[in-house]
Amino acid sequence: MANHTPLSYLDPARPEPWASFIEQIDRVAPHLGHFSHWLETLKRPKRVLIVDVPIVRDDGSIAHYEGYRVQHNLSRGPGKGGVRFHPAVTLNEVMALAGWMTVKNAALGLPYGGAKGGVRIDPQAFSRAELERITRRYTSEIGIVIGPDKDIPAPDVGTNEQTMAWMMDTYSVNVGHTASGVVTGKPIALGGSLGRLEATGRGVYIAAREAGLRIGVPISGARVAVQGFGNVGGVAARVFRENGAKIVALQDAQAAIANPDGIDITAALAHAAAHGSLAGFFGAEPISDEEFWQAECEYFIPAALEGQVTPERARNLRTRIVVEGANGPTTPAADDILQERNILVIPDVLANAGGVTVSYFEWVQDFSSFFWSEEEINARLESIMMKAFAAIWQTARERKVSVRTAAFIIACQRVLAAREQRGLYP
Ligand code: NAD
Repeated sequence: MANHTPLSYLDPARPEPWASFIEQIDRVAPHLGHFSHWLETLKRPKRVLIVDVPIVRDDGSIAHYEGYRVQHNLSRGPGKGGVRFHPAVTLNEVMALAGWMTVKNAALGLPYGGAKGGVRIDPQAFSRAELERITRRYTSEIGIVIGPDKDIPAPDVGTNEQTMAWMMDTYSVNVGHTASGVVTGKPIALGGSLGRLEATGRGVYIAAREAGLRIGVPISGARVAVQGFGNVGGVAARVFRENGAKIVALQDAQAAIANPDGIDITAALAHAAAHGSLAGFFGAEPISDEEFWQAECEYFIPAALEGQVTPERARNLRTRIVVEGANGPTTPAADDILQERNILVIPDVLANAGGVTVSYFEWVQDFSSFFWSEEEINARLESIMMKAFAAIWQTARERKVSVRTAAFIIACQRVLAAREQRGLYP
C-alpha cells in the first residue's frame, strides 16, 4: 500500500487549478530542508465540505445549487478565505484557492490557516431576494465548520458587503447571539473595518511600488494595464492613477478598452457602476482581447480570475512587471516563460494580501469591540506589506529563486514548523 491514498474526489479530466497549486508546492520542496518530511500536508486539504443549497425561487419553483467550504490547512490558526459566487466554481477551484490562502496568510505572518468557499451560481441571474436565500441557506449549511475561532469567510468574486451582512446575521441567529467576527468585509455599521473595501487594491499598489523601487521602474509616469475592473482591479487602477501612473488599458468580462493618453479612472468607475461593465465607455477605444494582452506597459495587473496568463499570453505580454491582483492568474508554465523573458512577477500570495491583512484587523477589532481610524488601518497595512515584501525579496535574492518561490519557501516553512511542533494526533 502506498504511503498516501490519492484524493478520489479530484476529476483527473479537469486537473486545474489545483494542479497548478500542487506544482507550486513541488517547486519549493527542494528548499524546505527537513520540513519536506511534512510536505504531503500541503498537498491535500484538511477538510472538504460539499453542501446542497436548495431555495424557493421567486416563481415558486424549487432550485438546488452546489456549495463548498474547504479548509486547506489549520496548523497556524482558524481558516480564513473568501466566498465566491460564480457559474464556473468547482470543488477543484475552491481547493486551490484555499491552498493559496494557507500560503498567503503564512507569508504575511497572519495567525490564520487557509480556507475558501463558493457556490456555483451566476449571481447576476438572481433577484436580490433569491440571492439572500441562497446566501443564508449556504451559510447555514456550512455553519458546522465556520465560526469566529474556527473559520472566517470574506468576500471574493461575485460576493460583497451585503453577502457578508447576510452571512453574519444567519450565523448569529443560528448560534443565538451576534457574532460579528464570523465574517470579514462586513458593512461598517455591522463591525466592518474602515479601509477594508479598498485594502486589496491598495495592497496591490504597495507591492508594485516596492517592486518598482527595487528594479528602477517608478510608478509615477508608468503605463499600467489592468485585467478585471471589480473590487481589486478597480481600486488598484484608481490608486495607481492617484500616484501618478497612466492606466492605458482595461479589460472586464465584457469589454477591453485602451487609451494611450491614460484612461480617466473616475469616469470609467462611474460608467462600470452604472452599466455593470466597461462596454460602451467612450473615454477610450474598444480593443480586441489580443490587443489587450499586447498593450505596452510597465505594470500589468491581472485582477480577474485564475489561469488567465497562459504560456501564449506570457510570450506576448509587453510589460516589465506583472503584479498579481487575482489569485492564481499565472500558470506555472507561463511563470517560467515570464522568468525567461526577464519579466518580474510579484505573486498573488504577496501582491493581493492587503485584503486579508485588513480582514485580520477587522476580526481583531470585532473581538475587542474597539475600532481604529482609517489612517491607523492604512499605516498598519503598509507596515505589514512592506515587511513581508522585504523578507520575501531578500529570500529570492539569497536563494536565487523567483519571488513566488521565495514567498512559498517562507510560508511553507512557517506552516510546516507549526505542523511539526504540534505533532500528529494520535
Ligand atoms: P469582482 O467580482 O469584484 O471583479 C471581477 C472582475 O473581473 C470584474 O470586472 C469582471 O468583469 C472581471 N472578469 C471576470 N471574468 C473575466 C474575464 N474572463 N476576462 C476579463 N475580465 C473578467 O472580484 P474581485 O473581488 O475584484 O476579485 C478579483 C480577483 O482578485 C479574484 O481572483 C479574487 O480571488 C482575487 N482577490 C480578491 C480579494 C478581495 O478582497 N476581493 C482579495 C484577494 C484576491
